[in-house]
Amino acid sequence: MKYFALISFLIFFTFSCTNKQTIITEKDSKSDSLAKIEEMKNTPKKIEMYTEMNFTDDSLVELIRLDSSFLVDMPYATDSNFTKTKLYPCNKCVIRYKVALALIKANNILKEKGVKLKMLDCYRPLSVQRKMWEVYPNAVYVADPNSGQASMHNRGVAVDVTLIDNAGNELDMGTPFDFFGKKAWPTYRDFPAEILANRDLLTNAMDMAGFRHSNSEWWHFSLRGVSFPIEDTPLPCDEE
Ligand SMILES: [Zn+2]
Repeated sequence: MKYFALISFLIFFTFSCTNKQTIITEKDSKSDSLAKIEEMKNTPKKIEMYTEMNFTDDSLVELIRLDSSFLVDMPYATDSNFTKTKLYPCNKCVIRYKVALALIKANNILKEKGVKLKMLDCYRPLSVQRKMWEVYPNAVYVADPNSGQASMHNRGVAVDVTLIDNAGNELDMGTPFDFFGKKAWPTYRDFPAEILANRDLLTNAMDMAGFRHSNSEWWHFSLRGVSFPIEDTPLPCDEE
């Protein structure tokens, strides 16, 4: 029995050392590359992508590294959006850690109903907000980057989302994403029952997870009760 305990301990010790070594090595090399990006762009806030160990509520994290079940398909990473310009160099959903946890909660609620979240937009650097404002300076739909408030996307606390079924098909929400008009308002109810049910499914799950709904966009939600600074850190497109 003594030998068994000793052998068990040695096996455990060996494995824990091996694992620890791997994690440290990976973290060090990736921290180095993050540091280089930070130096290059001269930005104050780094994006914490690789380890949960040091996360705080305000850490900027890549959502799918915490939970790979989200679909990330952001129109601003293509030229198929209202600006007709590719605004993001890559398709990555970066968000505050506290918001990411709430999104995971909402997604878990939705998964029980056979659907899940598709991320259309997440954290948006302030410089991208400026580009949007140049193309569409209408404060009902695009936050003014010079207002001092900017957009909750620039603070990493807002997301644009829709629902997909298990086959990956988007549910009908009555209008496309970034439809500028009354039909996109959450209060607009002149739709068939199926569309209203889809909208309610999304809104209720997000509400239960702590999100506040936009008045003008059915797809836009921001986490209630948090305040984080505006950031202009670029998306970590060089990182795999
Ligand atoms: Zn939005």
